[in-house]
Amino acid sequence: MRSILHVDMDAFYASVEQLDQPQFKGRPVIVGADPRAGKGRGVVAACSYEARKFGVRSALPISRAWKLCPEGVYVRPRMERYSEVSGQVMEVFRRYTDLVEPLSIDEAFLDITGSVTLLGAPEQIAVSIKKEVRQATGLTASVGLAPNKFLAKIASDLKKPDGFVVVEEKDIEQFLAPLPISRLWGVGPKTEQRIREMGYQTIGQVAAASREALIRSLGSLGEHLYQLSRGKDDRPVVPDWEPKSTSSETTFDEDTNDRELLLSTILDLSDHVAERLRKDGYRARRVTLKLRYSNFSTHTKQSSLDKFVQTGEEIAEVARRLFAKFSLKQKIRLIGVSVGDLHRDGADPQQLGLFPQSNDKEKLSRTVDEIKQKFGADAVRRGSQLR
Ligand SMILES: [Mg+2]
Repeated sequence: MRSILHVDMDAFYASVEQLDQPQFKGRPVIVGADPRAGKGRGVVAACSYEARKFGVRSALPISRAWKLCPEGVYVRPRMERYSEVSGQVMEVFRRYTDLVEPLSIDEAFLDITGSVTLLGAPEQIAVSIKKEVRQATGLTASVGLAPNKFLAKIASDLKKPDGFVVVEEKDIEQFLAPLPISRLWGVGPKTEQRIREMGYQTIGQVAAASREALIRSLGSLGEHLYQLSRGKDDRPVVPDWEPKSTSSETTFDEDTNDRELLLSTILDLSDHVAERLRKDGYRARRVTLKLRYSNFSTHTKQSSLDKFVQTGEEIAEVARRLFAKFSLKQKIRLIGVSVGDLHRDGADPQQLGLFPQSNDKEKLSRTVDEIKQKFGADAVRRGSQLR
């Protein structure tokens, strides 16, 4: 069974405005066109929960909003700022899975099925995503957790703001039954009207209807709605993003040419990069080492391997060979390790041959990942890292 999250920021544009302008907190904030004292054209793009109490909704004509809520705070959208915050939110999502499908600037589906072994139960993952989003942005998100996208999206909307609703397999029928048919994905006002004319108001009534009758009057949409009304939806979460590389670097407190310190730093950075690869389910075939000297001149060297790697030791081995080619006459200010030419870990069956069997280093690394997950990042260190 899959674990799908739908995460949706609460009143996103308006919440960002309230965050950036604390004097707007607790007030009805309406983001959209200029109201021009009721003569404005255009619509409401978003509004705060305080504004919703006045009957203001997104997509409402701004002149209408002005009539409903003349004491509102009217602001123009600042898309650049919203997309900056959106980037922070999506970054949090991608810490938990690379199967992130953004639906818009402030919501996404996440398939966390594969994250469960390493990161804990789905409920726990959902709760920590909410927490991390709040820490990263100061904003709240509502989350739905369910076996599929359709149910997760409905669930995230039920307890807004700051909501968290879980739909378990055994509760699906009960969960859907009382909801209005407009909640069915793909049902616009016209279809809604037709279904009502057939005598159905709720999803439960559609689920209990005859499948043949639904298909007779609605064609293939009838079949689709019949499946949805029973909570069946096998659409996959399709990520829009593939990492091209992943990297880690560090700037020393004091410039150094201490070879031992530099080599152990390379191992630390390689471990960090490898951990990220394993978490995201990738392997890499190219390693790049970057050095910045005290005069700020920056140099890189890279090497491609004949196999795909995923452990810190294997990456560090290549990085150390690259390091040997650099001069240490000048002191070093910054050192970085990055890996590229990434391939998904066994995602493509034709590539399975590339990764025949986990080697011992990989097994050990995975065990270390699990220990760190349970006991904290400092729980395990290499002997060579004990200083
Ligand atoms: Mg939203």
